[in-house]
Amino acid sequence: MRATTAFNKMLAIPGAHVVGVCFGAEGIEVSLRARARRLRCACGWSTRAVYDRSVRRWRHLDLGACKLMLSAQIRRLRCRPCGRVVTEQVPWARPGARFTRDFEDVVAWLAQRMDKTNITRLLRCSWESVASIVARVVADHLDDHRLDEVYRIGVDEVSYRKGHRYLSVVADHGRDGAVLWVGEGKSGATFQGFFDELGPERAAQLEAVSMDLTGAWPKVCAANAPQAQVCADPFHVIKLANAAVDAVRRDQWNTARRTGGKIRRNARGRVNTDPAAQLVKKTRWALLKDPAAWTEHQAAQIAALRRARHVLFRAWALKEELRDLYRLPPGKPADAHLDGWLAWAARCRIPAMIELARTIRTHRGTILAAVELGLSNSKLEGLNSKIRLINHRGYGHHSAAAVIAMIYLCCSGLTIELPTGR
Ligand SMILES: [Zn+2]
Repeated sequence: MRATTAFNKMLAIPGAHVVGVCFGAEGIEVSLRARARRLRCACGWSTRAVYDRSVRRWRHLDLGACKLMLSAQIRRLRCRPCGRVVTEQVPWARPGARFTRDFEDVVAWLAQRMDKTNITRLLRCSWESVASIVARVVADHLDDHRLDEVYRIGVDEVSYRKGHRYLSVVADHGRDGAVLWVGEGKSGATFQGFFDELGPERAAQLEAVSMDLTGAWPKVCAANAPQAQVCADPFHVIKLANAAVDAVRRDQWNTARRTGGKIRRNARGRVNTDPAAQLVKKTRWALLKDPAAWTEHQAAQIAALRRARHVLFRAWALKEELRDLYRLPPGKPADAHLDGWLAWAARCRIPAMIELARTIRTHRGTILAAVELGLSNSKLEGLNSKIRLINHRGYGHHSAAAVIAMIYLCCSGLTIELPTGR
């Protein structure tokens, strides 16, 4: 069997056959000749007229430990619809790539599963190549049809870098929180970018959108999809309640410190031995945490606050009662529970909690809608830890675009097929 025949069978490059094989300094070099006579632009237009020719090389998957390069004459054409000279499309590589499709698919498949340094070692390519390959594969796979048949969505901000760098992420509640769209920033303009891509027809299909109500998003949503029910995301409601309880705690701590007066010195410095201060001291995590996850010490702290009929205990109990809204037993009406809570909070004489009740009352409808539809952005909250993992694996350091491509690759349900799986 001739070497060219063997390589033809082994590589089975789509749309081309092998015309020569040689061993160069870098590894094996395989020359290809494309079968197609017509030149095809990326837009789909084709012609027989050649503008000019040159030779291009593509890195293919290794053969054993040898690097394998493909080379072929590539032609340019003057594309009439695009109005410019463009390089023809070849079936074995994506436009502008210096790697074959097979090579790029392997990189993308690995990037879903392992860190960047190990990919560069395994495949002997640069960090920059991995990043540009991920971007190209994602652009190739990301289908506009993913935005069809979308009815219930959630939008949330995630931080991708220190120093207040945020992305806005839109996820599909109907597909188990799969990411639909990611944009840089967290402003109303960023969210508008999602609706621009969605278009008015598909926006008119939206039934419900869950989000944090304190930002600019509800307005953007009302302007683009007025029929959609805005839902207050439970996580953000509880976050507000936690902030109110923490404000009460800080206030109590400061008062106890100022008025307690019984400050003594010991080996570690000044210690406030006032019983009121001792009660409040280091209760922050016990107050925030789910009681089911308390340590023995934390449970004892809250029990002590309860025995003292402390204002902090009442604030905490109010917060827990609000959390109960999201774990009501079936058949128990949410509106009655929330109204009962609002009445209790209004009478509690704790300024921070009264302020919280005021905010909750203005959002009563959207809070109840979220309970009724069972919408929560908890899947989106999980994205924060996924992004940390992406950064930890070495993919997020360059730009928002690189992080966005990785979020699409890892969290939007893209399936990358391996060349060996086809
Ligand atoms: Zn074109």
